[in-house]
Amino acid sequence: MNDYKTVSGYIPTIGIECHVQLKTKSKLFSGESNDAKSAKPNEAVGHVSFGMPGALPVLNKKAVELAAKAAFALNTKPQNYSKFDRKHYFYPDLPKGYQISQFEEPIILGGYVDILVDGEKKKIGITRAHMEEDAGKSTHPAGKDYSLVDLNRAGTPLIEIVTEPDMHSAAEAKACAKSLYLQMKYADVSDVDLYNGNMRFDVNVSVSKDPSKLGTRSETKNLNSFKSVERAVEFEIARQIELLEKGGGVVQETRGWDDAKQKTFSQRTKEDAHDYRYMPEPDVPPIVLTDEYIDEIQQQIPIMPDEVRSKLNSISLDSSQVESIVSEPSVAYFIIELINHDQETAKIIANWVTGEIAKLVIDSKVNWDEVVKAKNSLITLADMIKSNQLSSTNAKLLLIDVITNNVDPNKLAKERGLLQDSDESSVEQIVLSVIDDNPNAVNDVKNGETKAIGFLVGQVMAKSQGKANPALAKKLLESRLNNS
Ligand code: ADP
Ligand code: MG
Repeated sequence: MNDYKTVSGYIPTIGIECHVQLKTKSKLFSGESNDAKSAKPNEAVGHVSFGMPGALPVLNKKAVELAAKAAFALNTKPQNYSKFDRKHYFYPDLPKGYQISQFEEPIILGGYVDILVDGEKKKIGITRAHMEEDAGKSTHPAGKDYSLVDLNRAGTPLIEIVTEPDMHSAAEAKACAKSLYLQMKYADVSDVDLYNGNMRFDVNVSVSKDPSKLGTRSETKNLNSFKSVERAVEFEIARQIELLEKGGGVVQETRGWDDAKQKTFSQRTKEDAHDYRYMPEPDVPPIVLTDEYIDEIQQQIPIMPDEVRSKLNSISLDSSQVESIVSEPSVAYFIIELINHDQETAKIIANWVTGEIAKLVIDSKVNWDEVVKAKNSLITLADMIKSNQLSSTNAKLLLIDVITNNVDPNKLAKERGLLQDSDESSVEQIVLSVIDDNPNAVNDVKNGETKAIGFLVGQVMAKSQGKANPALAKKLLESRLNNS
């Protein structure tokens, strides 16, 4: 602990636990479907997830492969040897009475993720990440005297990533959640749909006045947005400081997050590991990964966010543009491909992607798949700007059709009468009338105020409805005003 800001004299400390659902077709220990999106409650379930007596688990190979991939996304390698343990607890959404998890020998040990807060890069250590099966879902209908259990999610493969207590502010916790999200998204091990609970964050928060000693922590569970991670941490820091200032103590407990009230609330006091009576899982053999297998997995790791950022920085975009491109891997790879080919084209398209096209996506007028598919048309459109056939303003008017209908931009620009006018005599006509209409600006130019020429070019552009070639307009204006 050396880089922290204190809050009212206290050092906040945060560690995150993050559950990631792996995108497999079937569950972790059975052939039951792992896709319950359109299933009715308890439809995507078989005897294994129901915990029927005698039902035996069989480990899903694909889940192991995805967990191994996740290790590289956490900047480490998977372990050659890992194994499963039983974690016992009683709850209606866990019919077996125990969850198959990894305790002593997890598949991932160590690693880190990078975060960037206030322009400063920092490494957040990963303690471990283990494979486990998800539990089902209980709901408690309001006003009813019963609860409902849906086991569709029971048995879904997860990895639980545990970070070191390396964060010291809500902003760092949020950045870490985001970084974990992007790493998993790029490694393509999960659908990372936060809204549907594909990734869930638990934040462990404590405060302490003594830099050499951590305070007692609370654990706020099941946060499903970056914003709620940030808000829950802020809330816990303030709540714990207030308790301590009043002379009270923080209780080690599990808390929930009430999004409507923007508050955490107490759920239960925390179990210690020994309460779970962990024991080796006798029905699932250990996972043994050879070095060759691990090397093969490493080959599948694509360019990850950090490298994407540094490539994007080579065409000098601002940091918010970089982040918005990084958040969509298919778009990021598209722009990188362009950068390798032609930086000027890449920059024009990057500006669209973070400006007009981003708006079209937000308004659900186009989606990113269509944008990436329209690659060749977008390149043609950018080329038309570069060769002065089209103004950049008019090019933007064509984006939506170029993307959704995949029409030839040349043809479209012609049809719409948007092609740039590079015909000297027709631009000259407009230049002359602009000179007549703007005697003050003309005088300014003659008196050496070079800025005024820009104003006059603007007038020519407006009068030609964006069609005049601006370089030509400028050249004609200059020669007119120098000669008269
Ligand atoms: P569990 O929650 O399962 O009991 P751990 O004791 O391993 O597991 O801790 C879980 C998380 O809590 C880790 O991310 C760890 O960094 C974090 N953590 C542990 N102690 C503290 C503390 N005093 N303050 C803040 N975070 C902590
Ligand atoms: Mg925990």
